[in-house]
Amino acid sequence: MSNASRVVLVTGGSKGIGRTMAEAFRDAGYRVAATYRSGGVPDGVLGVACDITDQGQVDHAFDTVEAELGPVEILVANAGVTKDTLLMRMSDDDWQQVIDTNLTGTFRVVRRASRPMMRGRFGRVILISSVVGLLGSAGQLNYAASKSALIGMARSLTRELGSRNVTANVIAPGFIATDMTAVLDEATIADYTRRIPAGRLGAVDDVAAAALYLASDAAGYVSGAVLPVDGGLGMGH
Ligand code: NDP
Repeated sequence: MSNASRVVLVTGGSKGIGRTMAEAFRDAGYRVAATYRSGGVPDGVLGVACDITDQGQVDHAFDTVEAELGPVEILVANAGVTKDTLLMRMSDDDWQQVIDTNLTGTFRVVRRASRPMMRGRFGRVILISSVVGLLGSAGQLNYAASKSALIGMARSLTRELGSRNVTANVIAPGFIATDMTAVLDEATIADYTRRIPAGRLGAVDDVAAAALYLASDAAGYVSGAVLPVDGGLGMGH
């Protein structure tokens, strides 16, 4: 079986990087499902309503995909949020919301995906982290902590499930133009752009191309890796 006919689930497929990844997998011939909370998912993609902070909704989303398309063979854990503020002003709620979505939410979907992958003796887990998880970022202590934790998660998963033909990798995007970064002021964007060797912000397609590679037959022996898609911003980390 070519990987391009396998079943993919992208979390957070309503917009931004997740939406573009769902479209890219669809266009490459995969059978694609995507979760959404608000908005919808692209045409030709099975939409499943799901808030990843709720285990019941995660289970229901997977049950629906399994009934409609079959077991999830490629999981792209993309859903994520920011709640930026300096440490001294960071409330328990700012911390908890980000950890519960980016880290515990990812754990919930990975755990639900793992058993069918083990049974099927095939799985590709792709976790969307961030350059910030490696470099750190003032005002993003919660976000950076949640994103660096995904590296430990992918590498532990590689050790647990590697012998079952399940790979787990991390994509660490740099600064990508989406709603998440649209809230930043011009001075911050200009400062980032100066620090990016490529001299430009990344595009959602840049991240989608990396996800397609990690899901492909060609990447079957790549596991526990962190693939930066950041124009060189995080080099050396
Ligand atoms: P967006 O804000 O554009 O999209 C975030 C997506 O996550 C939305 O589809 C949103 O769904 C979904 N989401 C958020 N919370 C939940 C939840 N509790 N349950 C289910 N879905 C949820 O962000 P981006 O596309 O920019 O980011 C996508 C991923 O890439 C994130 O993990 C982000 O941290 C990471 N990233 C982004 C970078 C960037 O520069 N943009 C850089 C590095 C990493 P809905 O809108 O329906 O609520």
